[in-house]
Amino acid sequence: MSVSSFHPPERILMGPGPSDVNPRILEAMARPTIGHLDPMFVALMEEIKSLLQDTFLTKNKLTMPVSAPGSAGMETCFVNLVEAGDTVIVCQNGVFGGRMKENVERCGATAIMVEDDWGKPVDPNKLEDALKAHPEASTVAFVHAETSTGAISDAKTLVKIAHDYDCLTIVDAVTSLAGSELRVDDWDIDAIYSGTQKCLSCTPGISPVSFSDAAVERIQNRKTKVQSWFMDLNLVMGYWGEGAQRSYHHTAPINALYAFHESLVILQEEGLENSWVRHDANHQALKAGIEAMGLGFFVDEAYRLPQLNAVTLPEGIDEAAVRKILLSRYNLEIGAGLGPMAGKIWRIGLMGYASNQQNVLTCLGALDAVLTDMKAKIESGKAVNAALEVFA
Ligand SMILES: *Cc1c(COP(=O)(O)O)cnc(C)c1O
Repeated sequence: MSVSSFHPPERILMGPGPSDVNPRILEAMARPTIGHLDPMFVALMEEIKSLLQDTFLTKNKLTMPVSAPGSAGMETCFVNLVEAGDTVIVCQNGVFGGRMKENVERCGATAIMVEDDWGKPVDPNKLEDALKAHPEASTVAFVHAETSTGAISDAKTLVKIAHDYDCLTIVDAVTSLAGSELRVDDWDIDAIYSGTQKCLSCTPGISPVSFSDAAVERIQNRKTKVQSWFMDLNLVMGYWGEGAQRSYHHTAPINALYAFHESLVILQEEGLENSWVRHDANHQALKAGIEAMGLGFFVDEAYRLPQLNAVTLPEGIDEAAVRKILLSRYNLEIGAGLGPMAGKIWRIGLMGYASNQQNVLTCLGALDAVLTDMKAKIESGKAVNAALEVFA
């Protein structure tokens, strides 16, 4: 058998993640590997934690990257804060709320589901009703930005209600971090996790997390050991925590952390709030183009994510065939619908480095050309100009 090196094509990544990676980040990743207890590496870890605090807008000491993708950040939050026999209220308005339920049940706890229609935000009144009906609940979990539908929920309000009923909160910010306003300390969030491959535009495989003092207190006062050895924060902190006597826990993904550090430096250079503004501006241009084409959005404007655009399909069009042509002819990846949304929407991501003017115009031009070619019922030839007007 003859094998050779793998050379991937250069795609434009405009799906639900991973998003386009800034070449600076790929370059950082290719730098020499050093030891995970090397003093130079330890200094880098400290800088990562500090940059991450700035990104989450928190002073939480327990703020660090988990050495695994966003789903592992989710699991880290649940296995550390939830014990067998607990009751957790899980708000679900898309795919990822369902994954939270799985986590709760695997901890041996009971999940009380607060369900909202897909494409709608979590309803604070329904959460409050569930808290009244379940005074035994100790934790509330919800997704800030539902990537499966493109809807954002009011995290600040949901956290406040949870605290009124003495619950700690677990918030999924995988898609919201760096793309939408998110303030961990101001909003009083207890446990939060994100991912590197969405609006941070880093390579996949790292999950930033942060825990408030109240969350840390609960972790330290658990009755039982955390069921996962790898994710037990009491142990992980021996490596990531403060102080000189760092000890081996697992071998950190050194080069992936170079990449993550670079992504945080890039964000710092741009400014967090400027990044939120850029995500919104590019969304506005894409929206003008999509609407000029005669297509619509699945989610109401009031709670639509700028970084994840769920676009409804033209009548009678095979959405998978369109994505296939976009990929093969334009090297452009957009996302399909997930779960019940499969075959009903496209998910066009404008995340991180991919959220730029060129990508908006390329995507609109390509979609317009492919759909026109398929004789879809759209307004041909208008999308790009509509977006250009917004940019002007
Ligand atoms: C992508 C995503 C995840 C999972 O992240 P992975 O890195 O794929 O494990 C979790 N929650 C939301 C909202 C996401 O968009």
